[in-house]
Amino acid sequence: MLTKAIETLQNYFGYSVFRPGQTEVVLSILEKKNTIAIMPTGAGKSICYQIPALCFDGVTIVISPLIALMKDQVDTLISKNIPATFINSSLSLEEVVCRIEGIKSGLYKIIYVAPERLTNPYFINDLKQCNISMIAVDEAHCISQWGHDFRPSYTKIKSSIDKIAEGKEMPVIVALTATATIEVKEDIIKQLQVTDPNIFVSGFKRDNLEIICVNTKNDTDKITKIINISKKISGPKLIYATTRKSVEDIFENLITSGIPTLQYHAGMTPEERKVAQDVFLSGRCNCMVSTNAFGMGIDKSDIRLIIHCNMPGSIEAYYQEIGRAGRDGKKSSCVLLYGTYDRYTHEFFINNENPSKKNIEEVYFVLLNKSMADNKDEVSITTSEIMCGVSESISDMALSSCLKELEKHELIKRLGDANSEIKIKILDTFDNQIKKISSRAKTQQEFLITLRREFELENKDQEIEFELEKFVEKIGITRDNILRTINVLNKAGIIEYTPAKKGRLIKILKKEIILGLNDEDLEDKKERALTKLNVMEEYCLSSVCRHKFILGYFGDNLEHVEDDCFMCDNCLKKRIKKNSDSKSPF
Ligand SMILES: [Zn+2]
Repeated sequence: MLTKAIETLQNYFGYSVFRPGQTEVVLSILEKKNTIAIMPTGAGKSICYQIPALCFDGVTIVISPLIALMKDQVDTLISKNIPATFINSSLSLEEVVCRIEGIKSGLYKIIYVAPERLTNPYFINDLKQCNISMIAVDEAHCISQWGHDFRPSYTKIKSSIDKIAEGKEMPVIVALTATATIEVKEDIIKQLQVTDPNIFVSGFKRDNLEIICVNTKNDTDKITKIINISKKISGPKLIYATTRKSVEDIFENLITSGIPTLQYHAGMTPEERKVAQDVFLSGRCNCMVSTNAFGMGIDKSDIRLIIHCNMPGSIEAYYQEIGRAGRDGKKSSCVLLYGTYDRYTHEFFINNENPSKKNIEEVYFVLLNKSMADNKDEVSITTSEIMCGVSESISDMALSSCLKELEKHELIKRLGDANSEIKIKILDTFDNQIKKISSRAKTQQEFLITLRREFELENKDQEIEFELEKFVEKIGITRDNILRTINVLNKAGIIEYTPAKKGRLIKILKKEIILGLNDEDLEDKKERALTKLNVMEEYCLSSVCRHKFILGYFGDNLEHVEDDCFMCDNCLKKRIKKNSDSKSPF
């Protein structure tokens, strides 16, 4: 069986051997055993199901939430002469029909679909007429609500598979993910109802990464250490800070110390961020300070140093972020600057991300009341309107978490931001006010004249309301310029300006009195986040080999790790101690 698999690998991918960890998974699938494969990004997960897919007689369905990547994945397969296609919401109805016909007539071996597609009864009916040999669930952690990007549609996968396989042999079920802690793994098994699956964890060891954790006293201490370490390492460096403010602080300090540096955070415009990213990728500047959003999907293989200025919230997050270092296989260093106070930021986030059942229910009832009052399913509501209706004040972030939870239970759907209208009141008659504006202030004049033309603004104390965005389109002056003009006129006492309140557009999907939220589940979710944080802190304070700690956490094989890895601060400390002991005259 392995020979056939290797032949297939050679024929389509041009490799003569599998990478470590792949063989076991491929063999397990070929033996038609339900299989769970946990491998980090870049370890070659896809090959594990693509090779068996080509060896099997029938078709393989790959369920993937990454709609944006599906086309690329399929294009890559097609370029290797593998008959593959995808079906998702980006296609026109005609195209979907055409591809389904193709599937039925056996044109394809591998078909990528979004999980939502499997809830479509017509699609299930079409698949019933095909010979499906395997269902591969990619990004399988999405099935678990403990996973970081839970997708409700993933929980429906099993019942869809049952419908497809009705009266036929059950296809092999394969679940693949890069991040699965024990509870996520158990959840995958439970939700997919795969009894006694083969589980493989591999590829987590990164031999070329030197992993170091340093205790720090305060922010000043951290900055001194960042500067010293950055000066020592000449290759591309990535420095992660938690907040925009700390990114700016570190950036300033590095620049003052003579280290050419870039920054990247949410406060910058998309253009500014793009420029910073391009300069870093091109190697014109080798040091980047950013929030952890930077680096996702970035392809730069020669990052020699990653510094974390604060402890991340979990080993998973940490592992994923240091995984961006040394992708070319050359030695690279990862330094975590730990301070005992790092924990508080995470506790703050965990509390806000996990509102109580009472908070969530109250928010829902405010939305429901507004929907009934307006007699509309779509509600446009501001944060302050919601806050008025709840018994205890909650942060903006906690409110977002409440809405997310309601969405997860399919009670509401968030449709995006709703910009409410701004208010402008003219404090004297138009004729009097226009005279007060200097004839050189063309924009101010033009603005006031447009208001008269559009809204008949003439009389003293007349008030108008309008949506700024729509007005921007009409007047042909940039939004920033208009806001500046409004503020100048406001200060000069020509108009009185009330800014727009940020609103949200929400659709009520179900009108319920009892929401069925489970107090225990919510508590549990919070507990798990705190446990992850505790393990992360334990890691920082631990004196065992860092590589071993991480591999043990993911359940990867510890057998191949040397007792002294030479690639972490704890092992190096031990070696220094041993050497000095042996030199000791005692
Ligand atoms: Zn070690």
